[in-house]
Amino acid sequence: MEINECKHMTKCDFYGCNNLAKYCFSTKGVVKRDLCFCEDCLKGMYEAIAKLQIPKGIESPFKLKKRMRREDEK
Ligand SMILES: [Zn+2]
Repeated sequence: MEINECKHMTKCDFYGCNNLAKYCFSTKGVVKRDLCFCEDCLKGMYEAIAKLQIPKGIESPFKLKKRMRREDEK
């Protein structure tokens, strides 16, 4: 799967978005057709993905620090 710049003039596939698509998500046949989306929707997707991905990455070092601190206090 890869995200490429959209070469043909097409509207963003996101519901309620009237922008022209700037990128397309190529799945090489996994979905019926490539998903095309604009820069705003890319950011929206990125933020949505980041919400799922980042908390886990941030949480563990914090837990580690807390654990280390507790060990220091002993
Ligand atoms: Zn859009």
